[in-house]
Amino acid sequence: MISNMERLKILLTEKGLKPTYQRLKILEYLDKHLDKHPTVDMIYEALANKIPTISMTTVYNTLNAFQEKGLVNPVTITGTEVRYDFLTLPHHHFLCKKCGKIIDIDIKCPIGDKKEIYGHRIDEFHRYIKGVCKYCLKKEKNKNKH
Ligand code: ZN
Ligand code: MN
Repeated sequence: MISNMERLKILLTEKGLKPTYQRLKILEYLDKHLDKHPTVDMIYEALANKIPTISMTTVYNTLNAFQEKGLVNPVTITGTEVRYDFLTLPHHHFLCKKCGKIIDIDIKCPIGDKKEIYGHRIDEFHRYIKGVCKYCLKKEKNKNKH
């Protein structure tokens, strides 16, 4: 069995990126926090004490390189920041307007992986849903009971 780090190393190499320590750590963070959809800031904050040599610019440049190679997807659902998703299967995102959580929604989408629609080429495709998550709804309901 290969370790998770080995797996990520192979992935970087396959994508033509040198598997440097910092790149590996950033990719590992994304892989371990899929539900977080972190920003550049969040990744930097999380790694800064472990890797003193890391800078905000490194994280930013690394994410750009990952994005170019199709390793990460930018998620702009909040409208004010870019969040990053380690590339998994295409899925929708649900933003809770109360707690700010971004939740993965796996439902079949009629557009799927289409590269074209009615003769138009698709470059970007955002699957965004906004509302109030079930956890916040439950909290609200409990509050109203008392
Ligand atoms: Zn919520
Ligand atoms: Mn996601």
